[in-house]
Amino acid sequence: MARRQLEHAAALIDLDPGLTEVLARPKRAVVVNFPVQMDDGSLQCFEGYRVQHNASRGPTKGGIRYHIDVDLAETTALAMWMTWKCAVVNIPYGGAKGGVRVNTKTLSERELEKLTRRFISEVNIVVGERSDIPAPDVGTNAKVMGWIMDTISMQAGYTVPGVVTGKPIELGGSEGRVEATGRGVTVCALEACRELGMMVEGKRVAVQGFGNVGSVAARLLMQAGADVVAVSDATGGIYNSHGLPVEELYSRFSGVDGGIHNYKDCDSISNDELLTLDCDILVPAALSRQITAENADRVRAKLIVEGANGPTTPEADAILGDKGIIVIPDILANAGGVITSYFEWVQDLQNYFWDEEDVNNRLARIMRHAYAEVHHEMLDRKTDMRTAALIRGVQRVADATIRRGIFP
Ligand code: NAD
Repeated sequence: MARRQLEHAAALIDLDPGLTEVLARPKRAVVVNFPVQMDDGSLQCFEGYRVQHNASRGPTKGGIRYHIDVDLAETTALAMWMTWKCAVVNIPYGGAKGGVRVNTKTLSERELEKLTRRFISEVNIVVGERSDIPAPDVGTNAKVMGWIMDTISMQAGYTVPGVVTGKPIELGGSEGRVEATGRGVTVCALEACRELGMMVEGKRVAVQGFGNVGSVAARLLMQAGADVVAVSDATGGIYNSHGLPVEELYSRFSGVDGGIHNYKDCDSISNDELLTLDCDILVPAALSRQITAENADRVRAKLIVEGANGPTTPEADAILGDKGIIVIPDILANAGGVITSYFEWVQDLQNYFWDEEDVNNRLARIMRHAYAEVHHEMLDRKTDMRTAALIRGVQRVADATIRRGIFP
């Protein structure tokens, strides 16, 4: 899918075939197998990856995923998408991704820490604050990032906060990082409403996934005046046509994985029903491949803002396009996380920290600017927003590669 998207964008901008081939491949991929001594004394071997897709615009950047389905192909595709995401919002990074094939539910906290410290030691030949900077992803969190920072620092002999982002605030993390992706989603939704001449006040919003991204987006959209009429998590969803009490839901269910369908005073709905609800704005903020050829023709929202990575399949995209539904693509809509990671890195390198308002204002400025550029590209090329965003990203990376020249 990642390669197909690149080929599509490359054809539209007449990219040199040799250069397209360069961009289609990762610059570097490291595969490691490493042992961890488990609590019961046994040894278990794990496979991990760190893939750097492209470094022509700066150090590479991307999350570390702990999941049983992690493999080299998926990690490579995710690294490529990180390259385009950083380029679309014009922050000075290339894309990377890493991961370990593991079911974290089977590990004790001590085993998770040992796995993390050993994995990062195995890939530290390519990771560094000037070369490749990891961050959290599925299955990892601020605590894991803290262990990574400590491990690299122990090996360097001094504290290296800039080697990883998404850390706890006490270890050089940034104010605003936790809310950043949901905040970016909200900025995109508000910009799109403005472009469509749609007042956000009273607009009906449905949010799939009430985790980090979904819960923050729901809360901020509600604060902007919208009525959040439906939300869901892995266990199911709830609906109230007059709007849900988002603040209460936020305080009870954010950070808790599951259980939202038990909330009183509203109707229970399935995740499929949520996606096809009669609403104005739909925010898929859970998993990939949720809007598919199966349900796309039943989607009734006017605007979809992709909080999750890859929630819409290419087949569904075509159907939504025919129905005139606007889709703000993931590489733009959920870039708030990596933008604030960039702020965290800048603050760490300077050892000078900004307050939350400063972080949020800078984030909103970058998101609005990127939105305007993609929107302009879309009108210019008479295409959809996903293609326009991809074109902006690919073109920027191609330009950097050409300007640097091919070494030697
Ligand atoms: P999270 O683990 O905090 O939350 C995920 C939520 O989705 C949970 O509420 C979970 O119960 C729910 N969920 C799981 N399966 C579901 C299903 N089948 N139907 C409905 N809900 C389901 O994760 P997150 O950090 O909020 O990430 C959500 C998505 O956003 C992922 O695709 C992630 O890759 C993407 N994303 C996250 C960030 C970030 O900064 N957190 C940045 C960019 C992209």
